[in-house]
Amino acid sequence: MTDLNSSNGNNSSLLKIPTIKYNKLFINGDFVDSLSGATFETIDPRTEEVIARISEGAKEDIDIAVKAAREAFDSGPWPRMSGEARGKIMMKFAELIDENIEELAALDAIDAGKLYYIAKVMEIPGAISILRYYAGAADKIHGEVLKSHGQFHAYTLMEPIGVVGHIIPWNAPSSIFFTKVAPSLAVGCTMVLKPAEQTPLSALFYAHLAKLAGIPNGVLNVVPGFGPTAGAAISSHMDIDAVSFTGSVEVGREIMQAAAKSNLKHVSLELGGKSPLIIFDDADVDKAADLALLGILANKGEVCCASSRVFVQEGIYDQVEKKLVEKAKAWIVGDPFDPKSQQGPQADRNQLEKILSYIEHGKREGATLLTGGRRLGSEGYYIEPTIFSNVKEDMLIATDEIFGPVMALMKFKTIEEAIKSANNTRYGLAAGIVTKDMDIANTVSRSIRAGIIWINCYLALGSDFPFGGYKMSGIGRDSGLEALHKYLQVKSVVTPIYNSPWL
Ligand code: NAD
Repeated sequence: MTDLNSSNGNNSSLLKIPTIKYNKLFINGDFVDSLSGATFETIDPRTEEVIARISEGAKEDIDIAVKAAREAFDSGPWPRMSGEARGKIMMKFAELIDENIEELAALDAIDAGKLYYIAKVMEIPGAISILRYYAGAADKIHGEVLKSHGQFHAYTLMEPIGVVGHIIPWNAPSSIFFTKVAPSLAVGCTMVLKPAEQTPLSALFYAHLAKLAGIPNGVLNVVPGFGPTAGAAISSHMDIDAVSFTGSVEVGREIMQAAAKSNLKHVSLELGGKSPLIIFDDADVDKAADLALLGILANKGEVCCASSRVFVQEGIYDQVEKKLVEKAKAWIVGDPFDPKSQQGPQADRNQLEKILSYIEHGKREGATLLTGGRRLGSEGYYIEPTIFSNVKEDMLIATDEIFGPVMALMKFKTIEEAIKSANNTRYGLAAGIVTKDMDIANTVSRSIRAGIIWINCYLALGSDFPFGGYKMSGIGRDSGLEALHKYLQVKSVVTPIYNSPWL
């Protein structure tokens, strides 16, 4: 594990800090100050220093952005042009992101503490794939003929739902931006997106690229600001037709309530998780340990589908535990621009404090701290990879989403016990199974109530895999063709034909 007291001033980071070009609200195709003139700071989690001041959107700015989106929907070209034409512009947008990938990756590294090379070779290319996937879908959205004989000719039309509000978190600023924006653009919606207050930088850059690509003014508006002001103005707005949210259960609940109390806008929620990874006796110990660590340490555990509960069958438990500790101790935590780093800083001070307080809870509740558990260095929000054993299923570290590099390791005997424990959570976002036995894999994958099951892999995501939660992990699906339906209305059209008594 890297000692950050000696490595934190890594020079590699100084070479790549981009100049911040976009720090204002993007409304109706222009970068503008907020009406109040207020701004907020965005902080570099490596150094705790201010990166830039960002215009702070509030209710009145959301109102202006919604008005622009409404006009663009009611009378602008975007919903009226062919799917093929929209797809072509979206492809251009994807190309422009590709051309700016290094700058965008650096923005996510300084704003969210993401590893620069992972952002550059995985997350932003993934975001580009999402955009291209939905660009390809834009001309394949159609209704169906219901009756073409008898007394009626009847068919369905798939129409864009209207103005959409997107509210997104900070842990994956680029990929979540596009899981929301791309399908809603493809179907012809217009939108207002509020990035998380911790990570507004790449979203504003994407807004600039959208304009360059030819997305008409008013179609995509990006309004940074805080949740209780700008976010709440979206969820309670009378002229927004659907809200698509990714974030915590608590805020998801507030968004549903606000939608219910305002205009009953459609609500889709991608929320948290406490996902199990189940390792069976026949697993390769080394590979299983690698998967478990990837599942909890990727993006410093700030992943909604992180494998935060790891269940290991008793026959190989001791070996897996030993390997996990060995590998976690060798895990390199450091500056996200250093190519050797495997884990950067947590996204902000709140996260740092929340994670450390869960670790203290784990110790107080009697779990055994096998490795980690401390903040690293005195500058930046770095935390050691942390593994607890002797965890009981009702301890907070086993029930709550910590959203950090903290694994709860547990032992099981039988397949039935594993299924019961895996399902013993209010969440249901993801699960992993490690076994060579297909009977076990099939039984467990069908018995776990979660939106995605990984067999002998983890965190494998694709633009075409529907992603979302059972139970309190959410409502609706992002990604895949399913996501298009969040942004569509189905209209039935019925007309009598020549032999109908209606004529
Ligand atoms: P959060 O719920 O605190 O904030 C998410 C967004 O909601 C931010 O933009 C925030 O400003 C806004 N917000 C806050 N209060 C609001 C309010 N009252 N009304 C409207 N908007 C409001 O979540 P977070 O801490 O930013 O993100 C972490 C959570 O997100 C975790 O629970 C994680 O599991 C979840 N997440 C889920 C997925 C998924 O796909 N299921 C993906 C990533 C993150």
